[in-house]
Amino acid sequence: MRYFALVPAAGSGSRMGAVSGRSLPKQYLPLAGRPMIWHALSTLCSAPAISRVFVVLAPDDADWPEETMAALGDKLEVLRCGGETRALSVANGLRAMSGEVDGIADDWVLVHDAARPCLTVAMIDRLIAEVGDDDAGGLLAVPVADTLKRGDEHGRAQQTVPREGLWQAQTPQMFRHRLLRDALDFAPRVTDEASAIEALGLSPRLVTADISNLKVTYPLDLQLAEWILRNRAPTP
Ligand code: C5P
Repeated sequence: MRYFALVPAAGSGSRMGAVSGRSLPKQYLPLAGRPMIWHALSTLCSAPAISRVFVVLAPDDADWPEETMAALGDKLEVLRCGGETRALSVANGLRAMSGEVDGIADDWVLVHDAARPCLTVAMIDRLIAEVGDDDAGGLLAVPVADTLKRGDEHGRAQQTVPREGLWQAQTPQMFRHRLLRDALDFAPRVTDEASAIEALGLSPRLVTADISNLKVTYPLDLQLAEWILRNRAPTP
């Protein structure tokens, strides 16, 4: 059984740029002395379970730091086939991977956001162990802790949404290559891979993670990620 990582990194990070006024795509913003995307790629490349790591860039990406990334080694491969949406970037990446890896249909693909820099090898190992050979695959996720409100257009609470059974989906999300390709063909307008699998009537396994695997969306998230990366105890 082989495991491959696929990192969609063809977004512009408009929510980040709009607030910070910076034009550099979010995944390249400096974080703990490196471009943000370096951290997740470095972790994925150092995970013994993962055979190869594919990163999907926008075709016209001029910011990819070639030298910094070359130091991550042979496992890393760049695909310049990003699409209009995250789902299209992933679908294009899956297609390109079939041309690079023979007999990939039944292998596992772990899709991970470039904007989740605090991923650890332990999180990857846990996901792989808990999903096992589950036909529906699975994802890291965190049970919702806050009370949830549905707001109106005036910023007033209209309703409290029961949080029982609600989870925040993270990445990596892992599925067999062929299943994920079929799912994204069937449901191309999704914001994560698990939604596409659900659209096929399958129920991906929710593997409990923690909030340190945060997604950097707003400028404050970048400060939190920096703190986590600098203060994390070294893994034994
Ligand atoms: O913008 P957001 O944080 O939701 O993006 C999640 C991930 O999807 C990021 O790694 C981003 O680069 C990627 N993405 C992509 N192609 C797009 C839009 C987003 O690869 N068209």
